[in-house]
Amino acid sequence: MMCAAKTGEVFVVSSPSGAGKSVILNRVRAADPALLFSVSATTRRPRAGERDGREYYFVSAEEFRRRVDAGEFLEWAEVHGNLYGTLRSEMERLAASGQDAVVEIDVQGAASLRAQGFRMVSVFIMPPSVEELERRLLARGTEAPEVIALRVTNARGEMAHYAEYDFVIVNDDLDTAVADFQAIVRAQRCRAERFEKRP
Ligand code: 5GP
Repeated sequence: MMCAAKTGEVFVVSSPSGAGKSVILNRVRAADPALLFSVSATTRRPRAGERDGREYYFVSAEEFRRRVDAGEFLEWAEVHGNLYGTLRSEMERLAASGQDAVVEIDVQGAASLRAQGFRMVSVFIMPPSVEELERRLLARGTEAPEVIALRVTNARGEMAHYAEYDFVIVNDDLDTAVADFQAIVRAQRCRAERFEKRP
C-alpha cells in the first residue's frame, strides 16, 4: 500500500454567470455533506441573503490589494469589474481535511491554477444558449441591467474556453446537470490511484 497521502480531490468549477452553477452546486452540496466548498475573497458587494464568510469573504479593494501584496492568494482575477481570489489558507484547510472540495473560479483563475500545475479536476458548466443565459440573469433579478449586459458579453468569451476543462456539463435540464456533476465526483472517488492511497 502506498503512503497515506491526502485523498481529497479538488473540483474546479467555472461557468458563465447565469449558467446555473450555483443552483447545481447547492443541490450537489445538500446531497453530499462530505464535499467541502472553498470560500473566496471578493470586492463585490454582498447580494441579498449572502453572508460574509459563507458565500465569500467580502472585503474592500484596499484590503484585497493588501492581501495580494502579502501573497495570500493562490490566484486572483478581475471578473465583471470586481476582484475575486482564492486564498492559500482556504486551500490549505481543504487539503488538510483529506476531503473532496469544490472551488468555484472563473476561466482566468482556472487557467492560472492549470499553469501552476495545480492538481485538480476541472468542470465547465455551459448554459443551453446565450439567450437562455440572459433570460436567467434577468429572472434572477440580482443585478442591474448594465451589469447583466456586461455578464452576457463576458459569457461569450468565457464559453470559448470550455475545451481547456476535463469535463463539460450543459445545463439545459437541472436534474440531469446535477446528476452529471455527481457522476464526475463519483468516478473520481473510484479511481484506482485513490484506492491505493487509502490510509
Ligand atoms: P459572482 O459575482 O456571480 O458570485 O461570481 C462571478 C464570477 O467570479 C464567477 O465566474 C465565479 O466563478 C468567479 N469567482 C468566484 N470566486 C473566484 C475566485 O476566487 N477566483 C476567481 N478567479 N474567480 C472567482
